[in-house]
Amino acid sequence: MIINVTKSFLPPIEEYQEIIKGIWENTWLTNNGPLVRELENKLKDYLNVENLLFVGNGTIAIQIALKALELSGEIITTPFSYCATTTSILWENLQPKFVDIEPNTYNINANLIEAAITEKTSGILATHVYGRPCDVEKIEKIAQKYNLKVIYDGAHGFGATYKGKSVLSFGDITTCSFHATKVFHTIEGGSIICNNEDLLKKLAFYRSFGHKNDDYYMMGINGKNSEFHAAMGLCNLPKVADIINNRRIISEKYDSLLNWSKLSRPSNNIEGFTYNYAYYPVILESEEKLLQVTAALKEQEIIPRRYFYPSLNQLPYLDFYNPCPVSENIALRALSLPLYYDLALTDVERITQIINSNL
Ligand SMILES: *Cc1c(COP(=O)(O)O)cnc(C)c1O
Repeated sequence: MIINVTKSFLPPIEEYQEIIKGIWENTWLTNNGPLVRELENKLKDYLNVENLLFVGNGTIAIQIALKALELSGEIITTPFSYCATTTSILWENLQPKFVDIEPNTYNINANLIEAAITEKTSGILATHVYGRPCDVEKIEKIAQKYNLKVIYDGAHGFGATYKGKSVLSFGDITTCSFHATKVFHTIEGGSIICNNEDLLKKLAFYRSFGHKNDDYYMMGINGKNSEFHAAMGLCNLPKVADIINNRRIISEKYDSLLNWSKLSRPSNNIEGFTYNYAYYPVILESEEKLLQVTAALKEQEIIPRRYFYPSLNQLPYLDFYNPCPVSENIALRALSLPLYYDLALTDVERITQIINSNL
């Protein structure tokens, strides 16, 4: 059996069937249906946030966020994230400006942000990498001083908390992904969380072609999601606590078995933070070691993932280069190990033995 870096959770099929039965009764498949609204309400309760929209995916969430905040010119962003963080900026015809990351959390280094601000800067788009919160206090101060909007790509943050609040509750807008590979998923899907009602209304118009009843009230796009996706979310949400708990046990097994004299990892030493065990990244001594370990694992049908690689300031389609030495270095050496709700602890032992003997 192949062991992949992740495996999507699936609820018992009967539970899914029970929820989608209603769709056959009301023939309401999409367009803000009852299951979408039920999921939105349950997510607001679970995350303890005021405003949340369920959308088609985590990428359209970022794009709608950039639009709704009317950003222009340059966006300060992180080079250590999934490509969607950067491509969303480019797709909206904005200019990404990469600021290097902190060596401990791999989140954007808030101390370097001010030096990157120009008169063209309108916003900051940063990722809570592997679920660990950015320095939200420092970023908030900078944003206020320079009148910038803040968007967090919270694709990894579902279920993680910081100072008693969801990691997804900071900034002007936080987006999340509910893709099949994430801790909580709706097959494809995502959310937009924001801090005020007016912004919420605007985001909702953007999500649905800018329609106000039958009027073309404003220009929008299609960011909606369906009743079938919402139904998967409704099945999975009550299971998230157990899923995270299993991931914690598996992660602690890795913690106890890996040879830390030859490996490093992002720090969990962030005051007030509780982790969601979204990923299990390790940093090898060199890219050469990373390739050697990957090959040894692959021989046993174990498939880790270079996540994130490359550093986004080195994406091949960029026509400029902002040096980010810390991110470039971490991206060469970062490997995410298999982690999912029912990964056997005996497999974790096997995986760590292969890794340790190749360090
Ligand atoms: C998964 C992910 C996305 C994209 O989300 P989709 O739902 O797949 O569009 C964006 N940013 C980060 C950091 C991600 O991990």
